[in-house]
Amino acid sequence: MKNGGESGSQGRAADTAVRVDPVEVSGLCDAGLRARLRELGRADSALAAMKAAALGEIARRRGASAAEHAAKDTLLISGRAARGDVKAAVALSELDMTREGLADGSVPVGHARLIARAATEGPIDEGFLAERAQREGYDEFRRTVARHQADQSSDDGASLLEQQHQARSGRVFTSRDNGMVVLNAQFDSVTGARLATVIAAMERHLYHHEDPTARPSHPQRTADAIAKLILEPDAQRPAGTSLLVVADYDMVNHQLTNARLSDGTPIPIGEIANVAADAHVLPAIFNHATGDLRMGRRRRTATDLQRAALALRDQGCVGCGVSPDHCRSHHIIEWQDDGPTDYGNLVSVCNRCHDKIHHEGFTVEQNPDTGRYRLQPPTRPPNDTKGRTGSRAPPR
Ligand SMILES: [Zn+2]
Repeated sequence: MKNGGESGSQGRAADTAVRVDPVEVSGLCDAGLRARLRELGRADSALAAMKAAALGEIARRRGASAAEHAAKDTLLISGRAARGDVKAAVALSELDMTREGLADGSVPVGHARLIARAATEGPIDEGFLAERAQREGYDEFRRTVARHQADQSSDDGASLLEQQHQARSGRVFTSRDNGMVVLNAQFDSVTGARLATVIAAMERHLYHHEDPTARPSHPQRTADAIAKLILEPDAQRPAGTSLLVVADYDMVNHQLTNARLSDGTPIPIGEIANVAADAHVLPAIFNHATGDLRMGRRRRTATDLQRAALALRDQGCVGCGVSPDHCRSHHIIEWQDDGPTDYGNLVSVCNRCHDKIHHEGFTVEQNPDTGRYRLQPPTRPPNDTKGRTGSRAPPR
């Protein structure tokens, strides 16, 4: 239901408020194509609501396993997808506002799944989330839900983290499709962030020892980094494996509040002491007086403090939302064009999105209302300069 690409939506949605007619898209202008996508997105939501209602009804009559079986059998989806669909459907049957938003197309499918998942994990204020779901992008809403769950929990999110810890899982298997070996694992958010930091540091280390004319792709480098970390455990840990944890300082009560990972994932305050005990963890505390964030032309690369401040502000890549571990600092006015290494002239982007800026004509724009930076595609098709080889941006 989430990633299914409900391309057969025409006609079937006719019973609801959302109606989609076939259109010859080659005749549409750019604005028309965007409007078309919006229309299809609403239809996607409406269809998801109907599918959830049907699955929820089967689950109510015959149980969740029967509903999963029916989903697998009739929708021809994987068992894993069927389990996810039924779990969301059962949760949605208790969530009136989310279900209505989904049905009338105002709440996107992915957003509804986030609300449904949160509802199964602990107490939520559904009205609050359903309202925010109508106006926030996916990444922003994902953070809203995480923050909301921590706010609603009676123990500062400690039990949520414990739930995640209990749900940890890993699997090593040979793919039936292509005979390759797959490592698949999921961790609680704090353990996961620590792993991601070490992997990202190894990626940077590998980058600096690559032949610049024959660089691997980003996913290939990540695979190499994981293999090296596991197969050569005695190799020295590369520099930069410190995890960034941020918290606000409550000047009135003289205590830390609102602790979070640099991508905005909330963590219990008590967890700061735990991660700080790790020699590779650097707790950074911000109380809105963050020292000098303007280096001008004195240095080209961002300082650790600037990087931390950027991670806080941008919460990851401004193009695709990937976590700050995988981001580097990009000069909005380029260094070559006399752009200063100042907080206000820097923005977090991942390597892929950095390539888009340098090779595909993407630009960084600031939203005048929210102050947030975003990557914007070029208004004209790029005259592609073959950015696949040669001058790749280094990791971070
Ligand atoms: Zn990106």
